Amino acid sequence: MRPIPRSALRPYVCPSCRSSRTLGRRRFASQSDQVPDIYDVVCVGGGPAGLGLLAALRASPVTSNLRVALIETQDLQKARSWKLDSHQFSNRVSSLTPASVSFLQRIGAWEHLDTDRTLPYQEMQVWDGETDSRISFDWSMETSPFEDLRTVATMTENSNLVQALLARIAESGDENISIFSNTTVSSIENGADLIEGPDLSAWPVLSLAPTGLAPSSATPPRIAARLLVGADGINSPVRRFADIQTDGWDYNRHGIVATLSLADLETPTFPVGTRTAYQRFLPSLGGPIALLPLPGNHATLVWSTTVENAAYLKSLPPKAFIAMVNAAFRLSMPDLKYMMRMEQPATTSASETPHEDELSWRVQHTEFSRVPPMVTGVQEGSVASFPLRFRHASTYISPRVALVGDAAHVIHPLAGQGLNLGLGDVASLSKSIEYSVNHGMDVGDLLSLEHYTADRWATNAKIGGACDVLHKLYNVPGQNPVAWARSFGLDVIDRLPFVKAFLMRNAEG
Ligand SMILES: Cc1cc2nc3c(=O)[nH]c(=O)nc-3n(C[C@H](O)[C@H](O)[C@H](O)COP(=O)(O)OP(=O)(O)OC[C@H]3O[C@@H](n4cnc5c(N)ncnc54)[C@H](O)[C@@H]3O)c2cc1C
Repeated sequence: MRPIPRSALRPYVCPSCRSSRTLGRRRFASQSDQVPDIYDVVCVGGGPAGLGLLAALRASPVTSNLRVALIETQDLQKARSWKLDSHQFSNRVSSLTPASVSFLQRIGAWEHLDTDRTLPYQEMQVWDGETDSRISFDWSMETSPFEDLRTVATMTENSNLVQALLARIAESGDENISIFSNTTVSSIENGADLIEGPDLSAWPVLSLAPTGLAPSSATPPRIAARLLVGADGINSPVRRFADIQTDGWDYNRHGIVATLSLADLETPTFPVGTRTAYQRFLPSLGGPIALLPLPGNHATLVWSTTVENAAYLKSLPPKAFIAMVNAAFRLSMPDLKYMMRMEQPATTSASETPHEDELSWRVQHTEFSRVPPMVTGVQEGSVASFPLRFRHASTYISPRVALVGDAAHVIHPLAGQGLNLGLGDVASLSKSIEYSVNHGMDVGDLLSLEHYTADRWATNAKIGGACDVLHKLYNVPGQNPVAWARSFGLDVIDRLPFVKAFLMRNAEG
């Protein structure tokens, strides 16, 4: 934990007693210049977690009058004006669980989302590429005829969500709120015990610096936070300031993402409109491939694989890349390993690439069931990759500091839970702040924050740990006892409707 001066830990002394105690102390003319701008809550990071927290605080009548600030390195004006054609989709898409969606509805952000660009899905097909054992989750079968179709999750572009959160914050008015975009936090340190001002010796004081050509007007050079929230991602400067340690490792895997178009929509299963997500574990290639539905005949890809495979896939021309995605859902492991080592086509304009030839020949000799529709196109510029890592902070709080989202935990994306956990943090922290305000407590005090870390740490550890175990279990290639055990597990769960329903309810968030 960061060093805090002993004076900060002394019992509370009211301001008038403090001023009489300090009468005899020397005053310096420069002291008043040193008083930083003081906020109740300062959030570093304007990603979905940071903006979610701000929107939640503004939405509650109890916390809407707190003086809040948000600092974001990037240009939030670009996020506000983000727009794509209706047939184009960003490659950063998240599957939001029903719990996340209802949180966003409760804080009034969901109505600002462009819901024509979101898509709920009701069914998941998950299978092992090595043994072919399969499990399917179908919410449509769990829905009674008297309720709306229940969903596994709703596919939502991160940019659409960020834009909606910014619109919700703007709707709450500009009183008591400062958003410093194009601004970076250059340093954070404990403040000072100011003779003619407050005792800030245990308060985080942030130095701000403009990052872009158009910094926000009137950005103060220094601001102090009664409560500093780190929503600043994996390399969180707030976490570093609070001296909170993280456990974790790099998976040596990359997640390839892309926006795809499909040949045609699947014949809708009953009830009409049911949409399906597909995930096939590919132990010999380093991780699963997932195809998740987007509106129309579009889909988003998340393919977790080794760094070498990721580099190979990204280097392929579009037709060969598409052939590899179709192959990954259909062919056997040896076939796939062979194709992953094929020489790249000499030209990108060839009507048939060697990868397409190879796929059409091999697919004739392969048996498969319930695979996604054929991929026919990949949106230009949408293929990208991200390193996959696991990190978990040892605690989410320290005096006057709380961490949310990726600043607190980063997990493997195979269950699509990272952002959902972040929104869960934000819902919990905003409740803790609301409770403190309602009960006249100091929002930055450890006593106010303890409930937050108690509520979230174990939940996040459980989900992050489960994803880690699944990653490891499904990275043992070949037919062996591990493959047998995992197939046995999948088959058993698939045949036990109560266990499956339990898992599905847990996945809802
Ligand atoms: C391939 C892939 C697929 C995924 N799929 C899913 C999914 O389906 N479902 C799901 O729930 N999650 C998914 N995730 C995880 C999800 O994308 C992240 O958990 C989420 O985006 C994290 O949001 P955040 O706001 O916590 O952090 P970030 O989005 O990282 O935001 C942090 C912000 O802080 C700002 N910042 C950093 N340092 C400073 C500084 N010094 N000063 C000012 N600002 C600063 C950054 O500019 C950034 O905007 C996926 C992740 C990957 C890699």
